[in-house]
Amino acid sequence: MGNRNELVDLIGVGIGPFNLSLAALLEDVPEIDAVFFEQKSQFDWHPGMLIEGTKLQVPFLADLVTMANPKSQYSFLNYLTEHDRMYAFYFLQRLDMPRREYNDYCQWVAGQLDSCKFGKTVVNVKHIEAEEPYFEVEVYDSETESVEKIKGKNMVLGTGSTPGMPSSFRGMPEDDVFHTADFRNHQKRCREAKSITVVGSGQSAAEVFRELLKEQRDHHYRLDWLTRSSGFLSMEESKLNLEHFSPDYVNYFYQLPQEKKDEIFATQDLLYKGISMHTITDIYNLLYEMSVGGETLDVGLQTLTEVNEIKKEGNTYKLKCEQREQEKEFTHESEVVIVGTGYRPNIPEFILSLESFLQWDEHGRYKVGPDYRLKQSSATPNEVYVHSGISHSHGVGSTNLGLAVHRNKVIINHLTGRPVYRISEQNVFQNFEV
Ligand SMILES: Cc1cc2nc3c(=O)[nH]c(=O)nc-3n(C[C@H](O)[C@H](O)[C@H](O)COP(=O)(O)OP(=O)(O)OC[C@H]3O[C@@H](n4cnc5c(N)ncnc54)[C@H](O)[C@@H]3O)c2cc1C
Repeated sequence: MGNRNELVDLIGVGIGPFNLSLAALLEDVPEIDAVFFEQKSQFDWHPGMLIEGTKLQVPFLADLVTMANPKSQYSFLNYLTEHDRMYAFYFLQRLDMPRREYNDYCQWVAGQLDSCKFGKTVVNVKHIEAEEPYFEVEVYDSETESVEKIKGKNMVLGTGSTPGMPSSFRGMPEDDVFHTADFRNHQKRCREAKSITVVGSGQSAAEVFRELLKEQRDHHYRLDWLTRSSGFLSMEESKLNLEHFSPDYVNYFYQLPQEKKDEIFATQDLLYKGISMHTITDIYNLLYEMSVGGETLDVGLQTLTEVNEIKKEGNTYKLKCEQREQEKEFTHESEVVIVGTGYRPNIPEFILSLESFLQWDEHGRYKVGPDYRLKQSSATPNEVYVHSGISHSHGVGSTNLGLAVHRNKVIINHLTGRPVYRISEQNVFQNFEV
């Protein structure tokens, strides 16, 4: 990055797919001098969930660059070429790639970008009022254990999400009671357990359950799956409903009144929170195979069940549960409990130091402009662009990989003040507005 006293055009916080895509696209925009900081020592995409057999839930076209620039050297197709995997992917005859391959592809891109710095945590930000105002960003370097100050004209937050663990499950030994996000770190422990319970029925819970079901014969544990939901519900993946993950729907949703947006978003769970049909099919097929010849399964699947309390007793955990329709309480016992209760936006604490600089709504959420800039209480030439925590403003597609490149096109056009990327107004067949 050169001289740290220089003012860089853009400082990125976090290097997940969203900021990595921005960093890759900015390689073709020479007038923007950007630097991105990531606290991990290398790019690693949800490592606890890189289970063999899991795949990306979007086509490979939603890689880091293709939807903005199919000619980019950072495309997935170029990754395949460089790794001599083009024919292998061609004969795979799929549009999606294994999740582990997406991680490897992103690592390959990150390894080529000088603007991406790893092992560096952004710990604080100040807005400095000067003749030429700027952001002063404090960055902790885990190798030197020192804090460095970097000056930037603009910032972009790509801090992603963190696992959401209900308070009733917290404070237990973490090798026994853990979030699906940590599954692979505890897989060995699962293999040694006498009984395992997965709680929740989103995609992650289903993937963990499927993996444990596959391994059950080798390790002989009892396996249960509990969910509060009325069913193991599938994600709404029909082609016309996928159009909700388009720039067109984002634009439509954005201009609605905030109250309406909150109301709509609360009804859209199955567009992004349910289980992929192929995962449900795999699970059902496994159960069917395992039951051939009248074999009794040591497996339980239970819907409508709320886990209200968990207590350690000896080597096991007692889960106080309630069947919500029958209003019947019961106790369920398990040696390992895996909590698949989703993720919540990771809004860094330091954003509060910009509290008076930014506009907030009555729910304590920052206000976001249509071009992903945080709204300021009084205008300055310094922008904070955001990828994270924008579902309330930009809707259900905010965490979808298929929209990240579009968002980066909008951000780059604004940042440069010129139409680097053409933004198409009509991308889908249906109209959302009249
Ligand atoms: C298991 C899983 C699978 C998913 N699969 C899909 C899928 O197939 N398709 C799809 O469309 N979406 C998927 N998603 C949703 C979404 O695409 C991902 O969550 C994606 O990782 C979001 O990218 P991101 O860049 O916002 O955040 P993240 O990938 O969460 O990255 C944020 C990064 O910021 C870093 N960071 C945070 N704070 C700081 C700081 N102060 N300083 C420095 N670094 C910091 C973190 O260490 C992290 O590496 C999935 C989500 C999960 C959890």
